[in-house]
Amino acid sequence: MALRRREWLKTMATAGFGAVGSQLFDSVHAQSTQPNAKQEQPLALKDYQPKSMLHVPETHVPRSRFPNIDFHSHLSWADRKGQRDIVNHLATPAEILKVMDAKNVRIMVNLTGGYGPLLEETVRHWQQPYPDRFIVFTEPWYGKITLPNYSRFQAEQIEAAKKTGARGLKVLKTLGLYLRENVTTGPLVKVDDRRFDEMWEAAGALNMPVAIHVSDPEAFFLPTDRFNERYEELSAHPDWSFHGKDYPSNAELQEARNRVMQRHPRTNFVALHTANSENLPYVSECLDRYPNMYVDIAARIGELGRQPRMTRKFFDKYQDRILFATDATPHGVETPQQIFGNELYEIYYRFLETEDEYFDYAPAPIPPQGRWRIYGIGLPEQILKKVYYENAARVLGLQL
Ligand SMILES: [Zn+2]
Repeated sequence: MALRRREWLKTMATAGFGAVGSQLFDSVHAQSTQPNAKQEQPLALKDYQPKSMLHVPETHVPRSRFPNIDFHSHLSWADRKGQRDIVNHLATPAEILKVMDAKNVRIMVNLTGGYGPLLEETVRHWQQPYPDRFIVFTEPWYGKITLPNYSRFQAEQIEAAKKTGARGLKVLKTLGLYLRENVTTGPLVKVDDRRFDEMWEAAGALNMPVAIHVSDPEAFFLPTDRFNERYEELSAHPDWSFHGKDYPSNAELQEARNRVMQRHPRTNFVALHTANSENLPYVSECLDRYPNMYVDIAARIGELGRQPRMTRKFFDKYQDRILFATDATPHGVETPQQIFGNELYEIYYRFLETEDEYFDYAPAPIPPQGRWRIYGIGLPEQILKKVYYENAARVLGLQL
């Protein structure tokens, strides 16, 4: 049938254009059938960059509809230089403020503020010169886990951090996936390890919210094979895989975090990255069960935006518990979905405010967290206000 149709097309072309048409057909035909070593190479997946042919509205949202608090950024990192812990600031405040002013970001929360003397330096660099624009969180001092009185030590560190100026406590996925009994060796320390009970309590007593990242995308716990929806991302970052070895499962990590929230009802927990963004029914159950739980949307619009109807309902129901956040990291070229800059903010605003369809969730030629595109959820103003500003202000204890 196909052959006959091709013959018919050839006849039509020849009939219409005479000799010229015939030549044209022959040359096209030749191109597609003549052996050509280069063309016969299958296109590598990494080189495939299909462009959408959809004719759909493309809304540019240069500023958020309301001023916002970006609850999740990394403007500095604690690092180790030889025997010494140091803090690296990834930018100057002026560099960050320029984008904040252009994009309507009122306050930026720098979650990774470090601990002890590092925290003091982070506060000095960001928060002290611009107390209305930058907020710094502290982090646990894991290097001291082997101290016999670590539990008390860590609680006291939170009290000291509050005095230094920290407004909350950040817990990276280090807890549950990297921290071991002897810091880097030995069995993994569990998220609900009792040694941290005093720390969670201290944070609550001091009105310091806990920004907690546990686990990672579900696909990171599965083999990096042809069935893995994040195959390219895991291939680019093999160390992000938590498949095998002695790693707990995603479900175990989530449940351990839940036990912590249950045990410390006076402490507010913001489960970062929407807690478990591929499974919003589960996140909803958790939010129903733990009134002290909130979520942020940092680095997960790729997940939320590919299930726009479920996400829209989620925002309706939990509009008082969701915080705007991006995970922005200045000069973070390794993870395009986090590169601090105008483009990143515009994508988030487009996702939250418009009903645009099928657009990129990250400023990158290939979608970095999986080969799909996203849909805007067109939130009404009342919900936008809460998500952009009011919920974070409440959690941080700021005056509205
Ligand atoms: Zn982050």
